[in-house]
Amino acid sequence: MSDFDGLRALVTGGASGIGRATAGLLAGRGARVAVLDLDPSAVDEPLYAFRADVTDDVLVRTAVEAAADALGGVDILVNNAGIGAQGTVEDNDDAEWHRVLDVNVLGIVRTTRAALPHLRVSDHAAVVNTCSIAATAGLPQRALYSASKGAVLSLTLAMAADHIREGIRVNCVNPGTVDTPWVGRLLDSAPDPAAERAALRARQPTGRLVTAAEVAAAIAYLAGPHSGATTGTSLAVDGGMQGL
Ligand code: NAD
Repeated sequence: MSDFDGLRALVTGGASGIGRATAGLLAGRGARVAVLDLDPSAVDEPLYAFRADVTDDVLVRTAVEAAADALGGVDILVNNAGIGAQGTVEDNDDAEWHRVLDVNVLGIVRTTRAALPHLRVSDHAAVVNTCSIAATAGLPQRALYSASKGAVLSLTLAMAADHIREGIRVNCVNPGTVDTPWVGRLLDSAPDPAAERAALRARQPTGRLVTAAEVAAAIAYLAGPHSGATTGTSLAVDGGMQGL
């Protein structure tokens, strides 16, 4: 399939998990793709790779400009870089709140701000933010992470309203529990990783975790030419977890 021929995409957090699957899928469907990541050393050819931390405004601007130069512009921005946090409001101190919100929320603000001049001159401008079912599910032991993704959901709606008259669509995906290195690390830190993985699978209505490829396919839909009238939406990719 080459429905992304001629389109130029920038994917943050594109060196692992959902971002890596998305970058590969978009490239496979004809897009020119650049990845912006803390550690882009694992990014394969023919993707362009740029090292940047989304918490550093100067590095983000520099990387976005370098990516736009390499790609010849930016039509699609996938704001996917994110980190987790566990616990109730008593478990994370102010520094931890600032650290996670800086990546998960302000990271999107900085990257979008840097990419907007390029998106404005695109004939097919789309932003997709990676949110989470945590934004609305009321998950236990996820106060900070949920608040950060709640902000991503609100930000998506506000950005959609602000930029649709400039021809820029903004949507988000809400993944459930996705089989990525992140979740692997969490499971590996449990006393019995195999038992923990089985318990996690058992909590899924489908009996399995969502795959990164399934989330990537949803991101590609929202970023691509088949969703031209869709903006300000969140698309759940959660194997039925939402609403349970
Ligand atoms: P992952 O850890 O496998 O990949 C995240 C990538 O983001 C890594 O390559 C990492 O280097 C990069 N990154 C982290 N902080 C960064 C920073 N400050 N600047 C630049 N790059 C940075 O994680 P994943 O599971 O693929 O998660 C990707 C996104 O999906 C995150 O926003 C996460 O909140 C969201 N999400 C994941 C799940 C899940 O179950 N895995 C569920 C819902 C939402």
